[in-house]
Amino acid sequence: MYTLPKLPYDYKALEPVIDEETMKIHHDKHHQKYIDKLNDALDGHDDLKEKSVEELLQDFKNLPDEIKNAVRNHGGGHANHSLFWTILQAPSESNGPSGKIADLIDETFGSFADFKTKFTESAAGQFGSGWGWLTVSGGKLEISSTPNQDSPLVAGQTPILGVDVWEHAYYLKYQNKRPDYLENFFQVINWTEVNRRLEEVLA
Ligand code: MN
Repeated sequence: MYTLPKLPYDYKALEPVIDEETMKIHHDKHHQKYIDKLNDALDGHDDLKEKSVEELLQDFKNLPDEIKNAVRNHGGGHANHSLFWTILQAPSESNGPSGKIADLIDETFGSFADFKTKFTESAAGQFGSGWGWLTVSGGKLEISSTPNQDSPLVAGQTPILGVDVWEHAYYLKYQNKRPDYLENFFQVINWTEVNRRLEEVLA
């Protein structure tokens, strides 16, 4: 059985960037729903339930056909949100990137400002619901976006930073203004955690 991870901070910790009500609905209702549906879909597949959701997604092509859609949508939803909560932190604790992630961003994109522009454009340009990503693949950083709850893990990439651009992630506070949400998102990124994830992939 997959279960809902606790938030590593209070529901209101990300105020004023992400409001308390959005966090409550997003975490307790939306994320829980993906987990419930993933558990339902894996009924009768006890061997697969032993694996982490990330392992299911990495091994997607070998899954039984009858559960592929559920793992893509609900397994992806569980994995994506589980990562998302960990890479956020209170704006008062906001830090810029440092260490390996800072070096690799400069090396790959020229500067942090260029990275921010490209990442924001990519996430803003994702048509409809989806995610904006910074992933690692073959030791290299890449910016991408995916529709729906598709996980980069299925394509062999490891996400180390993600931003949810479904309207349920920002509509209460930002309504249709996705670019404003993305601009403010940069105030609540936990770069220590992003760097930890990078070093884990490169280790
Ligand atoms: Mn979401």
